[in-house]
Amino acid sequence: MSYSGQRVLVAGGAGFIGAHLVRALLGDGAEEVTVVDNYRTASADSLTPAPRLKVLQHDIIEPLQLDGPLDVVFNLACPASPVHYQADPIATWRSSVYGTDNLLTLARSKGARLVQASTSEVYGDPLESPQAETYRGNTSFFGPRACYDEGKRAAESLLMDFHRVHGTDVRIARLFNTYGPGMAEQDGRVVSNFIVQALRGEALTVYGNGRQTRSFCYVSDTVRGLMALGLREGLSGEVVNLGNPNEVTILTLAEELGRLIGVPTSCTHCPLPPDDPRRRCPDISRARRLLDWGAEVALSEGLAATIADFRTRLDRPGKTLTG
Ligand code: UDP
Repeated sequence: MSYSGQRVLVAGGAGFIGAHLVRALLGDGAEEVTVVDNYRTASADSLTPAPRLKVLQHDIIEPLQLDGPLDVVFNLACPASPVHYQADPIATWRSSVYGTDNLLTLARSKGARLVQASTSEVYGDPLESPQAETYRGNTSFFGPRACYDEGKRAAESLLMDFHRVHGTDVRIARLFNTYGPGMAEQDGRVVSNFIVQALRGEALTVYGNGRQTRSFCYVSDTVRGLMALGLREGLSGEVVNLGNPNEVTILTLAEELGRLIGVPTSCTHCPLPPDDPRRRCPDISRARRLLDWGAEVALSEGLAATIADFRTRLDRPGKTLTG
């Protein structure tokens, strides 16, 4: 099974995960890939022009009309780094909720299936671990992260209602902390911050005591899971965690990066942001069962590839590096 002959829309296709997905879809033989992106957090040069690739600048907060047939819609359009999604929280909420509504309306009119990039943030600061899809979460519904958490939760409820009321084919992937080459230098998330800081010989900014955990999933694993979710028959209305169950503390991540970069690193402790979840670990048994999917790239291997990419991008005239 492949995307050969399929016409695919990727909302947020110029973003970090989106651009990896677009390349993989083209590589898998998709007949046409259309990207819509508002370039709020994505860079215009993240995608190389290709014959079967069409790129439109559009904000999915506004309704979207497309000519011609469409088979699959991937919705990755939303800022995902806490720094970025909290910078304009109203736009973030609207991207998730109005944006998903607009894409659902489009998918329904075209008879296309819609794969939603949801998030482990729907579990909030979880009271059980690992988190299975059946866990209803512990979110702070009016805190500073709520524009993202609750926006994504509202989007999930709308997707399920389109599925129940209109029979729209929807699939929801809850993504856990994806990282890899192509992350923006200014992304603001922990992996990119630490790598940029270490390569510049700066202290790593550990928020809080660094004992909070995350489970980092390499981008090629995430993309493979999204593509499988969009391809398999009989999965309409399914919600699936996609993440790497290897749970590590932020301090362990800092140590591992120091070791891989090969420079002595020091840490500076900064205040823990409000509502920062204390732990995050996916139960991926459902993804294994439905998609035959598991994370394959080990943290050390994925971090090494990410470091190599940052070195290439940072190592240009005008930048001083110690790594
Ligand atoms: N974090 C950190 N230093 C940084 C950026 C983030 O210690 O420079 C911590 C943050 O407080 C959180 C974890 O790393 O506990 C993951 O943060 P990130 O922003 O990458 O993603 P999140 O999972 O919070 O959305």
